[in-house]
Amino acid sequence: MDVTEIDVKTALVRSGIEGVDYVINPYLGCGHGCRYCYAAFMTRYSHHHAGHRWGTFVEVKRNIVDVLRSELSRKRKTGTVMMSSVCDPYQPVERQYRLTRQCVEALGEFGWGIDILTRSPLVTRDMDLLSCLSSVSVGITISTDIDRVRKILEPKAPSIESRFDAMKKLHDAGLDTWAFIGPMLPMNPRNLYEAIGPYVHNVLIDSLNYRDRVRGIFLKNNWGHALTDRYAHDTAGELIRMFGSRAARV
Ligand code: SF4
Repeated sequence: MDVTEIDVKTALVRSGIEGVDYVINPYLGCGHGCRYCYAAFMTRYSHHHAGHRWGTFVEVKRNIVDVLRSELSRKRKTGTVMMSSVCDPYQPVERQYRLTRQCVEALGEFGWGIDILTRSPLVTRDMDLLSCLSSVSVGITISTDIDRVRKILEPKAPSIESRFDAMKKLHDAGLDTWAFIGPMLPMNPRNLYEAIGPYVHNVLIDSLNYRDRVRGIFLKNNWGHALTDRYAHDTAGELIRMFGSRAARV
């Protein structure tokens, strides 16, 4: 993994996501390297890695915490921030750089709401901090219950089992937990429901949007059915039947 430190001028970026005022991405690039990643277009914003393959580099925004604190001190009113929208805030480099943790600390001190979304159980490292905040929710992305599928489509992301464990730990610590079931990869919806159902307050369900990017991989693995609108419709329907009013489709 090519890791480069960079300086940035802004931390808070206005968001069009419903219920979220701003997003913060402490890193440009993502070490999880999901094959279907919607954020791969971000390479075009990189001065150091334009044209590089997504998942092979991470740019660490080393001054983002100072920039964020300065922005927060100048804001007249608080809002809700999502961490993150085009990278995983708890990707492997976070273990060393702790930028996500420090951004969460700053947002908490200034009384802002925080929505975290990650594929990594590293988020449980920060349960001490998260448990003290008045307005925080923690989402874990779990797009399949089958780890073989994860190994092929999210090769450098943590195992599905470790995400189940993290979800339970966060829930048991009293945090507001939710799951992002997206994109719906080949899965057994019932197994997924049974694994996370008791530990999530709600789930958001999304389809596979960039099908052409992974068509070859799906066909090679006999998952062609999971590329169809019918699969998305039926799988979402089954999940919604099981999760009931806790489920919503993006
Ligand atoms: S974790 Fe998210 S941002 Fe990172 S590669 Fe996977 S889909 Fe993309």
